[in-house]
Amino acid sequence: MSDQQRNAIERAWDGVVTTARRTAAEGLVVGTSGNVSARVGDTILVTPSGVPYDRLGPQDAVGVDPEGNRVLGSLAPTSELPLHLAVYRNTDAAAVVHTHAVHATAVSTLVPEVPSVHYAAAMLGGPVRVAAYARYGTAELAENMLAALSDRTGCLLQNHGTVTYGATLDQAYDRTAQLEWLCRLWLAASSVPGLTPNLLSPEQLSDVQEALKGYGQPG
Ligand code: 13P
Ligand code: ZN
Repeated sequence: MSDQQRNAIERAWDGVVTTARRTAAEGLVVGTSGNVSARVGDTILVTPSGVPYDRLGPQDAVGVDPEGNRVLGSLAPTSELPLHLAVYRNTDAAAVVHTHAVHATAVSTLVPEVPSVHYAAAMLGGPVRVAAYARYGTAELAENMLAALSDRTGCLLQNHGTVTYGATLDQAYDRTAQLEWLCRLWLAASSVPGLTPNLLSPEQLSDVQEALKGYGQPG
């Protein structure tokens, strides 16, 4: 491995740990729930299974190849490795974040798709689907997730949590935060007795998706 590759992996591992700690610090997971990964070339760095994020240091990096064989470190990779690998195999993702964010998980028990009460859904590619339930860590869960992710950068896992991906760890994390916020908003709006929230139409959402291409600072 060249020095350049080693440096890139060290930097990416630092980002994975920072992002995993953020999910706990910002209340999107409790304890060792959830997991984070990032791709550097053919190496996928993943959080180890069942290790508190505040205990992770530079020596704890876990890397696997696209088939899931461990190529770096000695700790066992996340139990959701099939889910992370499925995203990398089927999308151009550079980072994946999985959480048990409470409002999103609540919504995953109630509906097959997150009702589009806000244009934030466009940031995830359109109305956010809920993947059918399968036990954590299974290939079946990864398969159900892929179906729900079609043309989307995030989905819910029924009675379980969230999955989002992005071109960077920050982008994947921000999508999780937006998804959790959207779910919280729908729960708030739909809990007013006698009133039903208005929803945005698919046309209104695709109009936002177009507009978002020019959002923020030029360049
Ligand atoms: P790991 O600790 O194995 O990553 O599992 C946490 C989790 O959220 C499983 O769905
Ligand atoms: Zn989980």
